[in-house]
Amino acid sequence: MRVTWAGGTLTFRLDPEDEITGRAADGYPVKLATNSCTITNVPDDAHPDLFAVAAWTVVAPWTRRRIAFDRAISAELARALHDGWGVEAGPVGADPRPAGDTLAISYSGGADSVAAAVVYPDAPFVHFRRAPHPRVPNRWPHYRSEVLARLARQTGRPLTEVRSDLEYTLAEPRPGYPEHHAVAAGALLNADLLGLGGLAFGYEIGSRWLGGGRYLHRFTPDNPMWAPHGMWCRLFAAAGVHIVLPVGGVSEAVTMRLALGSELAAQVRWCLQGTDGPCRTCAKCLYKELIQAAVERRPLDTPLTADHPRARKWLRPPPYGGQEMVEYGLARIPGIEHTLFAGCLEYFEASEESTSWLDHCYPPALAEIPEPWRDQAVSFMTAQVGLMTEKEIHRVETWGS
Ligand SMILES: [Zn+2]
Repeated sequence: MRVTWAGGTLTFRLDPEDEITGRAADGYPVKLATNSCTITNVPDDAHPDLFAVAAWTVVAPWTRRRIAFDRAISAELARALHDGWGVEAGPVGADPRPAGDTLAISYSGGADSVAAAVVYPDAPFVHFRRAPHPRVPNRWPHYRSEVLARLARQTGRPLTEVRSDLEYTLAEPRPGYPEHHAVAAGALLNADLLGLGGLAFGYEIGSRWLGGGRYLHRFTPDNPMWAPHGMWCRLFAAAGVHIVLPVGGVSEAVTMRLALGSELAAQVRWCLQGTDGPCRTCAKCLYKELIQAAVERRPLDTPLTADHPRARKWLRPPPYGGQEMVEYGLARIPGIEHTLFAGCLEYFEASEESTSWLDHCYPPALAEIPEPWRDQAVSFMTAQVGLMTEKEIHRVETWGS
């Protein structure tokens, strides 16, 4: 793989051994659509390791043996690429980038990301906004990136908005991040300007500890995307930007409660389709409504009925994505047996007691927050959420077994 940056435009050329089909770090198959993308609103003079990591978030799935950057990287970064992916990276020759003092939030506006922001009320936001690609037709016009950007501006936090078409480098399964970490490409390129030493993501306990990015249904202490000793966290750390998961120890029930109880509640939006509000009918709206109804202990409020195509998934046996939250919802929502979830009730024996671990924080998630930002997260979780008991910790560590 050969990579060049011209301003914010990344162009890459595959080597003979590279392939246009590959797998993201979570094992999910992805297919390449095109070999360039642009990130706007980024400086030209960022540290070369930042350009390298930003590029790697896009080209990693297709690179087999080596990568040549257009500017020398540090030996530390080359080692992280070699140790993590077995890739020879160069040229080598730059000094490492020292970590800054600032922690920024990679802010999407969803409940998890808002909850991460609530833990660090002074942290600035970096918001990734999807832009059209000049050579790839947009067959997904329902994705309302401008709505999410407007809500991000309304939060009043210091905000860096980065626009990029990098999601269109992906042909299959659909436009999206080639690696989950590509959402951070713009934040990485702005890391020197913002003085970043850390970047916080809203990944919660399901993503970090219960299965990874695209669902495995097992305890995953060695999650390659988000464990501190995993290849991605080591790579980011080598570029002086530590990955921080402020809500990595809590469930989506807790992030929902924190987000909707915060001063940012009016800006929370997980739906990518609605303009004036959530669409209420997409799969994400339905899943989040299940969680919100459970948190608020009220009946499910959805226009979807059991004969809707969207309901079909809930007639099949588990596992489901976010299964822990499905169990949580089924155990708590009054009248759930009269909704489209009725069909899957028979697969579970979830009770409030058997799902109460999802109301507390898994302490090892706090231990892996880098030292400069750990105390604040520990204080917050202790005071606002409560830590898991030994028995509850056991539930996490035997998940799926
Ligand atoms: Zn929706």
